[in-house]
Amino acid sequence: MVLAQLGESISQAIHEMSNATIVDEKVLNDCLNEIARALLQADVQFKLVRDMVSNVKKKVNLNNLAAGLNKRKIIEKAIVNELCEMLDTGKPFFTPQKGKTNVVMFVGLQGSGKTTTCTKYAYYHQKKGWRPALVCADTFRAGAFDQLKQNATKAKIPYYGSHLESDPVKIAVEGVERFKKENHDLIIVDTSGRHKQEAALFEEMRQVFEATKPDLVIFVMDSSIGQAAFDQAQAFKQSVSVGAVVVTKMDGHAKGGGALIVAATKSPVIFIGTGEHMDQFEVFDAKQFILRLLGKGDLSGLLDKIEAVDMDQQAELLQQLYHKENITFGLYQYILKMGYQVCNVTSHLPFLLGKSKELAPEGQEKEILAKNKRYIIMMDSMTNEELNCSNPKLINGSRIMRIARGAGCPVGEVMEMLKKYKDIANELSVRLRNMKKQNPRRSDG
Ligand code: GDP
Repeated sequence: MVLAQLGESISQAIHEMSNATIVDEKVLNDCLNEIARALLQADVQFKLVRDMVSNVKKKVNLNNLAAGLNKRKIIEKAIVNELCEMLDTGKPFFTPQKGKTNVVMFVGLQGSGKTTTCTKYAYYHQKKGWRPALVCADTFRAGAFDQLKQNATKAKIPYYGSHLESDPVKIAVEGVERFKKENHDLIIVDTSGRHKQEAALFEEMRQVFEATKPDLVIFVMDSSIGQAAFDQAQAFKQSVSVGAVVVTKMDGHAKGGGALIVAATKSPVIFIGTGEHMDQFEVFDAKQFILRLLGKGDLSGLLDKIEAVDMDQQAELLQQLYHKENITFGLYQYILKMGYQVCNVTSHLPFLLGKSKELAPEGQEKEILAKNKRYIIMMDSMTNEELNCSNPKLINGSRIMRIARGAGCPVGEVMEMLKKYKDIANELSVRLRNMKKQNPRRSDG
């Protein structure tokens, strides 16, 4: 069962439960059985599915629910939460540290998308101001070095490799040493992948690991392989200490269970690959993934569900805003993303943006949407420090240039985005202050 079908089947099961005249034990069981069947067909491990079902049942005790509570919403929430739990290992994982050289090694079977992912990972960080470099220690696959070279050249990222040297350990060590000397702060090592989990592959991987002492090993997994992913991930984990996982090919006909299966290995999924292009690479967020799976977070197919989703999203945003002293760039990006998803922030969040008419004059919605999309891309090129700040003055000339470079847009447009941010942040702060004054209790909980 492919990803889209899995989402549809789960949504359908929830929908049927919601439409039942009376929500009783039987309706709940039917709904959970349908979801379990869909997950199993998507190749998700039996144990994960069984645990999910029993956890929902434990959390939704129909007999003890007070009268008047919306059972349907409670069940739906419990299901979404449990699906998120399946994906969220809750474990902290290594993220590259500024001010030092970080070595990250990529492992995985041939064809999983390892080489492509190495460049995507480098490109993602380069846009955020890192100085990445790529080392091709894949001497097994003919053409691996040329592929990496081509990708790296396109992204303007320095690379190291050899057509002549056959010892991957030697290349890895030379490459890492060279880029350390050149003060690169993120050195990415691509290793060989074979068709099967063979002893020679693991031995080679272990040797490269010992020689380069990476700060993080990322396992790259093709989401279309279904159940086999669990054994594969386990085998790699036993050979080197895998710290994180990237699940590739989540676009197209991926077996939906892919990301869920990796969860069973208890390694955090940190990114997903959603296409062949360099920027088709997303930070993985369990909740977003599940919402999207259920058709609640994706652009396409969302429009017809706006009515249902809109209020939840508005409530979530409101909740977030209530607990924020400052409107950071990260929050601004989130607002734009949500607005972008539900069509237009200004028309869908009128209660937040009093001057909605002024911000989105009639007839200009399309243009504003396109602009918002570009602003979102610009903020993708901001560092965490920048995203967590609410002071546009921090974004000085060199930062503006870096963001413009990363987003591939003129400097003037970044400045325009900063100005827009300032206007909206001011507007929201005033409205929030007023809301808190009018309803101070809300900010407690
Ligand atoms: P490697 O052998 O593991 O290094 O795999 P490659 O990086 O050469 O990728 C194998 C194929 O998968 C190539 O055709 C890539 O373009 C493609 N690929 C990699 N990641 C993705 C992805 O996220 N989505 C899609 N659709 N294709 C991908």
